Amino acid sequence: MKKLVLVTGGTGYIGSHTIVDLIENGYDVISADNNSRSTPGMLEGIEQITGKKIKNYKVDLCNFDETRAIFEENDEIAGVIHFAAYKAVGESVEKPLLYFHNNLTSLVNVMRCMEEFKVKNFVFSSSCTVYGNPDQIPVTEETPKKEAASPYGLTKQMGEQMIEALTVANVEVNAVLLRYFNPAGAHPTALIGELPIDKPQNLAPVITQTAIGKLNELVVFGDDYPTPDGSCIRDLIHICDLAHAHTLALNYIIEKKNKTNCIAYNIGSGNGISVFEAIKAFEENTGVKLNYRVGKRRAGDVVAIYANNEKARKDLGWEPKYTIKDIMTSAWKWEQYIKDLPTHLDLRAFRLN
Ligand code: NAD
Repeated sequence: MKKLVLVTGGTGYIGSHTIVDLIENGYDVISADNNSRSTPGMLEGIEQITGKKIKNYKVDLCNFDETRAIFEENDEIAGVIHFAAYKAVGESVEKPLLYFHNNLTSLVNVMRCMEEFKVKNFVFSSSCTVYGNPDQIPVTEETPKKEAASPYGLTKQMGEQMIEALTVANVEVNAVLLRYFNPAGAHPTALIGELPIDKPQNLAPVITQTAIGKLNELVVFGDDYPTPDGSCIRDLIHICDLAHAHTLALNYIIEKKNKTNCIAYNIGSGNGISVFEAIKAFEENTGVKLNYRVGKRRAGDVVAIYANNEKARKDLGWEPKYTIKDIMTSAWKWEQYIKDLPTHLDLRAFRLN
C-alpha cells in the first residue's frame, strides 16, 4: 500500500512542487492549506502533471480542532511535511505578532496532532535565514547561527528549536529540518510555479515580472557590497531540486536511516550567484533585456550566502540537477503562462482576506 503524506501549505509554491515529486515517487498525498497566501487553482496544475486529484483541507492550522480533524479522518498518515507559514520578511517586521501567531501556533498544533496520532516522521521548511549574516561562506549546518535579521527569521529559528525539543522529549518522532537557500524557477511544464500574492520579494519573480512589464523596473539594492561585483550574493536552487529533497528526506526517516532523531540539512545549489550575474543569466538565456537600475542597499539584506550541501548529498543522496539556465527559462515560461492569469489561478477570486 502507498504511504500517505500530509503536506501543509500544499497549494503554495514549494508545497505544490513537492506534492508532484511525492506522487512521482510513489506516495499518496493530502494537503492542508487555508489558501491565505495561495490559490486552490494550483491543484489543477498538479492534477494535469500527475493525473492525480489531490484533496485539500481548507483549514487554518492555527485552529487546533480543525487541524486535529484532519488527523482523525486520516489515521494512516506516515509523515507530515510542514510548509504552511507566512514568509514575507518585510511584512514580518511590520507585523511580528501575525508571524509569531501564524508560523508558531500552526507548528505547535501540527506537532500536537502528530504526538496524539503517533505520526512519527516530520519534515520542516526551514531556511538559510537561520544563519543570519554568517561570518564564513559557504555555510555548513554547523555554522554558528547569528541573531535573526527579522521576526520571520526568528520564527524559523524558534521552529527548529521547538521541533528539536519535541524529538528530545519524544524519541519516537524523527524530524528533518530542511534549510532552503533561494528557491527559484518553475516546473518544466510551467503548469505550476511561484505566484506572489503581492509585490514579489524574491529575485526570480522580480526579474520575470520586470521582463513581462508587470513591474516597471528592477532595482538592484546596492552595488557597493564587499563582493566581486558589489551586488549581494545568493544561492538559487531550482524548485524541482528542492522539492525532491523533501521526498528523499522523508524516505530517509521512514526507512530509519537517521542516526539522530532531529537533523538539519542545507538545501542549496552550493553556488553563489550575484544579483548582476542572475540578471545576465536571465538575459542571455531568454534573449529578453531587463530594465534595471542600481538603488540603495535594502535594510536587512544579508551580504552573501550560499550553501555547503555536502551533508544532504552524502546522507540523502540528493543532487541538484537543474542549472541556472533551467531556473531562468522555466521561471520565464511560467511568467508567460500566467500573463493573463488563467481563471483557475486568479488569486483575486479566491482571496480570503
Ligand atoms: P507560499 O506562501 O507559496 O506557501 C505557503 C502556504 O501555506 C500558502 O499556500 C498559504 O496559504 C499556506 N498557509 C500559511 N499559513 C497557513 C495556516 N495557518 N493554515 C493553513 N495554511 C497556511 O510559500 P512557499 O514559498 O511555498 O514557502 C513554503 C515554506 O518554505 C514556508 O514555511 C517558508 O517560510 C519556507 N521557505 C520559503 C522560501 C522561499 O523563498 N520561497 C525560502 C526559505 C523557506
